[in-house]
Amino acid sequence: TETVRTCPGCGAVLQKDDPNRQGYVPPEQWERKAPLCLRCHRLLHYGEVVPVKLEADEYRRQVEGLGATHAILLVVDLFDVEGSVLPELHRFVGTRRVIVAANKVDLLPQAHNPERIRAWLIGRLRERGYDPEEVFLISAKSETGLPELFRRLEAERRPVAVVGAANVGKSSLLNRLIVRYGVKERVRLTTSRLPGTTLARVTIALPNGKTVVDTPGVLPPGRLTPLLLPEELKIVLPRRRIDPRIYQLQAGQTLFLGGLGRVDFVEGERQPFVLYVSNELYVHRTKRERAEAVYAAHRGRLLRPPAEGRVPPLPEWRRHRFVIRPKGAPEKRDLDLGGIGWVVLNGVPAVVDVYLPHGVAPELRPAMI
Ligand code: GDP
Repeated sequence: TETVRTCPGCGAVLQKDDPNRQGYVPPEQWERKAPLCLRCHRLLHYGEVVPVKLEADEYRRQVEGLGATHAILLVVDLFDVEGSVLPELHRFVGTRRVIVAANKVDLLPQAHNPERIRAWLIGRLRERGYDPEEVFLISAKSETGLPELFRRLEAERRPVAVVGAANVGKSSLLNRLIVRYGVKERVRLTTSRLPGTTLARVTIALPNGKTVVDTPGVLPPGRLTPLLLPEELKIVLPRRRIDPRIYQLQAGQTLFLGGLGRVDFVEGERQPFVLYVSNELYVHRTKRERAEAVYAAHRGRLLRPPAEGRVPPLPEWRRHRFVIRPKGAPEKRDLDLGGIGWVVLNGVPAVVDVYLPHGVAPELRPAMI
């Protein structure tokens, strides 16, 4: 009998028949002992992404009913909470009850209040139908919070299934687990800035005999990041702690987010707009009445990413209007920018327009920080 072989990078079942499906290994690599799939091979050696379709049904099949037998560890990206708390996931998995690893805490300001963020995140999770058991603020990168999380997983009676959207840092976290527990087969998962890297299950054994299973990451709808190219993601996804940028704006002023979108202060008293975006993203302030002309003159050059001549072009921008009219005392709000960060508004009356490529859905939320 032929045993099923999986890619040591992403866990996809290897096959040599169809280059467009996951787990493809070219014939000349097939005889090797532990070949990487083409996708992981290219990613590892050339930093290229080979798009692979993981259809919704296929995803569903992979996670269906896991909640009946497994404790569910939901990994959330603190830089893109709206894109990583998938509202339908708990239905697939079959339980609302989740342990939450809120990853990338290293990107938040040093002085953040962990209790506040935890309470805030619990609120966001409940809104989307989850019943969070416990929330750990972690960084797979700097290892913050990992000992506490790992202790919790060790104490878990059931096997653990790790679920989450693509790009939240699931593979990075699992790699930490692999190192921590010296798993026999020293697989290293392919981690990357590119969405959708983990394609199928990888199992890790804990010292108590329990296992941790990885599941594929699904691409979230309504986000900008899955539309971006590797070189654009390098700029837009922060790699270091974010330095918030404070703009004191008057109504009638505009901020360009490179060439990816724009935020217009349409109406309201002069107030601060505090941007939490990658330190590498160029932000350009101008008058709203000049915005069209500035964009026409500078898109793809001063205003980028995307660079001039990008193939394919990003979808045209769509306008989203947000109206803030506090009934009682003003409360700070975040204007989420669809996966590339957010703007903190102090909650006094304001009308703000956000322009982003068609299909990307920004939203207003209570302030995280
Ligand atoms: P997956 O798709 O969920 O498996 O995510 P990966 O582990 O491949 O990580 C996606 C991206 O997030 C990569 O660029 C990682 O370097 C980055 N990343 C993962 N964990 C952290 C973290 O704790 N902090 C920061 N700043 N970046 C992280």
